[in-house]
Amino acid sequence: MRDLITVQGVVLSAMPVGEYDKRIVLLTRERGKISAFAKGARRMNSPFMAAANPFVFGSFTLYEGRTSYNLNQVTVTHHFVELAGMQPGIYYGYYFLELADYFGREGTDEREMMNLLYVTVKALLNPHIDDRLVRCVYELRMMEVQGLCPQISSCAVCDCTPDEQAPVYFSQQEHGMLCAACALGVRDAVRISRAAWYAMQYIVSVPMGKLYTFSVKEDVLQELEYHIHRYTSANTDRKFKSLQVLEMICS
Ligand SMILES: [Zn+2]
Repeated sequence: MRDLITVQGVVLSAMPVGEYDKRIVLLTRERGKISAFAKGARRMNSPFMAAANPFVFGSFTLYEGRTSYNLNQVTVTHHFVELAGMQPGIYYGYYFLELADYFGREGTDEREMMNLLYVTVKALLNPHIDDRLVRCVYELRMMEVQGLCPQISSCAVCDCTPDEQAPVYFSQQEHGMLCAACALGVRDAVRISRAAWYAMQYIVSVPMGKLYTFSVKEDVLQELEYHIHRYTSANTDRKFKSLQVLEMICS
């Protein structure tokens, strides 16, 4: 009998293989990002029929084959099937999975990224939270989880903390917030509102469970979108297919 292992994870993607099978990519706590072969997952009566799909969270029992893991058993904890019927929520969801796939590595503990995905998918299902804000929060917190976070609580150049009334700026080039004096010497410094600044500080520092407990006005949301989307794109080196689809649908 081959050795079985059980991992806690989430399905990031599922690809049909042959007539009846699937290959899934899992983000897991124990083994990082791995792929597994789900034999018979496309047969009507297969126990993997519901489990071998994107957005499924659960515990996955696998055995190690010669070239890949093979799915042996799944206990689903959350499947989020209702997301499939949500427009444009589902497209945001696919982009979030693709971004997680981009950063996922084999052999690392991906617990934080899994938690981030979990609270983010739940936020997509909540009709009271704007999907555009969910995307901003997810992207910026993902940067923090990956150690790519811009410097936000103090000036990225001189490290000062501007007082209450002082204007604050954001610079892609300097990877963070700037005080007025430092902004003078930085070409791409853009003034940002206090509300946008506070929102960014909140996003990178609160416990995961509290990420989606605030809202912002439209003008602040536009500022967050402008800076965070640009920052995410500048700090990743891939064009995300799902993002292109999302932007096509939402434009
Ligand atoms: Zn400064």
